[in-house]
Amino acid sequence: MNKRGAKDLIKMARKLAKPFRVTDDSFRLKDIDPGDTLEFTSEDKPRAKEALAMGVSLLADLQDMLYAQDRWAVLLIFQAMDAAGKDGAIKHVMSGVNPQGCQVFSFKAPSSADLDHDFLWRCMICLPERGRIGIFNRSYYEETLVVRVHPEFLQGQKLPAELVTKNIWDERHQDIRSFERYLTRNGVVIRKFFLHVSKGEQKKRFLERLENPEKNWKFSANDIKERGFWNDYMKAYEDMIRNTATKRAPWYVVPADNKWFTRVVVAAAAIEALSSLDLEYPTVSDAKLKDLAAAKRALLADK
Ligand code: ATP
Ligand code: MG
Repeated sequence: MNKRGAKDLIKMARKLAKPFRVTDDSFRLKDIDPGDTLEFTSEDKPRAKEALAMGVSLLADLQDMLYAQDRWAVLLIFQAMDAAGKDGAIKHVMSGVNPQGCQVFSFKAPSSADLDHDFLWRCMICLPERGRIGIFNRSYYEETLVVRVHPEFLQGQKLPAELVTKNIWDERHQDIRSFERYLTRNGVVIRKFFLHVSKGEQKKRFLERLENPEKNWKFSANDIKERGFWNDYMKAYEDMIRNTATKRAPWYVVPADNKWFTRVVVAAAAIEALSSLDLEYPTVSDAKLKDLAAAKRALLADK
């Protein structure tokens, strides 16, 4: 992609992602409509797909520089209710990037080894290396979501009883904020996505999973059970976002009833994050340039 094209695309991406960015505690979930598609209608879908393809290619270029420069790491965190489209968003947005520069981890119910450690541990050991984009499909944020909605999970965490008080969720939010500040100060750029699907759209997608043989495998009876706790989850999400959205590690609350729109916004936010870094290819020293010229001469002289 030429420089001018890239610059225009970056400008567009910033504009697109901005309305969904949350950086402080003034956030309210009810202000975000899961069906929102800004000024775009479903007729714009083909154009959105084209823009996404261009965005994906730009992201690949930026990632190439990130990798070559080997200074920054980027951590993209995805959280959502079931069937909100996390997997699809990750698949589409990252489809163009070099797999060597990308690391994806999914966090499900913790193992007994996980439970033998503090709650951040299992995610800490999966943090992206410098030069890489790390993706967390679910994350330590489950610790104030599913664990908050189901107190029996907290009981299973083997914490000393005196540490489990009514302040525990505030304390976890505070610890997460400190952890993310620490990472940011070490060159890890963090962007967090909550794909916000409506309860009605989730029902539609579950039914599709039940009716379409190719989607049957995605269905889990437990998903229906969790759906029963919808309001508790929404409260936990709102509180979590309000308490952990910061300028340096913002949340993006992305409307998720239309998959094409979700993916465009996620791609736009990822582009915004990488383009904010002023990435460039490392310049080669004079000595190295001399070496290169000598190598070229030798190669040309070689029969
Ligand atoms: P997904 O639902 O993300 O598409 P999946 O269906 O492949 O993934 P599941 O087997 O549903 O995977 O595992 C994810 C489940 O693990 C979620 O219900 C999530 O809430 C739960 N989980 C994640 N972290 C924790 C945690 N720390 N404690 C308890 N449960 C957790
Ligand atoms: Mg699941």
